[in-house]
Amino acid sequence: MGEGRRHHRVPRCKRCGQPAVIFMRQHRLALCETHYQEWFVNYTQRTIEKYHMFRPEHRILVAVSGGKDSLALWDVLTQLGYKADGLYIGLGIDEGTRYSELSLEAIRGFMAERPGLRLNIVDMKESYGETIPELARRTRRGRGKPCSVCGLSKRHIMNEVALREGYDVLATGHNLDDEAAVLFQNTLHWQTGYLARQSPVLEATHPGLVRKVKPFCRFYEREVAAYAIVRGIEYQYDECPFSVGATTIYYKELLNRLERQSPGSKFQFYTQFLNAKKKGLITFHEPEGEVVLRPCRICGQPTTAGEICAFCRMWVRPDMDPEEAKKVVPTLKLRVETS
Ligand SMILES: [Zn+2]
Ligand SMILES: [Zn+2]
Repeated sequence: MGEGRRHHRVPRCKRCGQPAVIFMRQHRLALCETHYQEWFVNYTQRTIEKYHMFRPEHRILVAVSGGKDSLALWDVLTQLGYKADGLYIGLGIDEGTRYSELSLEAIRGFMAERPGLRLNIVDMKESYGETIPELARRTRRGRGKPCSVCGLSKRHIMNEVALREGYDVLATGHNLDDEAAVLFQNTLHWQTGYLARQSPVLEATHPGLVRKVKPFCRFYEREVAAYAIVRGIEYQYDECPFSVGATTIYYKELLNRLERQSPGSKFQFYTQFLNAKKKGLITFHEPEGEVVLRPCRICGQPTTAGEICAFCRMWVRPDMDPEEAKKVVPTLKLRVETS
């Protein structure tokens, strides 16, 4: 007793008593560098099991952007012994920023220190003849911002690569801040269809869709960043230059203010939503009859958009005859790099 309030100013690791590098209020847990790494990896495994994401025999495709979340995820899954390959999509966002170039550099640096990794690469320009900004300009979607073209292209390509190469599941590095922001936005607008689907696991509801999982959904962004730093992962620090002013960033800022006032509230908001949904205490439904998945006439991927999916419509005009339409959509070219 008494021996020392003043000595406890620096939080100590709960496992070993060394000075802590992180304190996680929502878990009431302070940890040193060594024990934080260990905890982070084990907690990821617990999330994978809790939501039945995948098992050791499954082949996992990790979407890697070069940022901290995706590289940390690839690192953890590899440490846990999972069969996890990477997928990088070269978006060609290099106008004055070298964003895409630096992203691929970060991934290659990461792989160089970890022999035995396999990276699938799809370059937009190489496969489709146009970068994301060029595609967005030509199709005039998104009022000067290529984000909608980028989002739909990434979804399409990830799905195609996963299915074509026989992966069981696609894993993305979405963290708690991402998921809570989406949940907040969907709740404010009572987007019941989106709320029904928001989950750490998106089941493949159609044979043409790959199963999707988010093993980092219970980590705060700062926790993933701390892990990347203590692991010495040199990631791409810059956000995509087009993400400035995106609506999700606005919701993230709102939630950060809430979190400062009431630490742990983001974690509660998201995990209690999942718990209540799982127990059947709250249920959401897709609007009746609105979601009919049909294979796209051109590429075969399931779509709700009608005969031709939004991706193929970037090349196909409504007045084209079916044979011509099939020829105008370029085919995906896959490159593989190994370490
Ligand atoms: Zn320790
Ligand atoms: Zn299509």
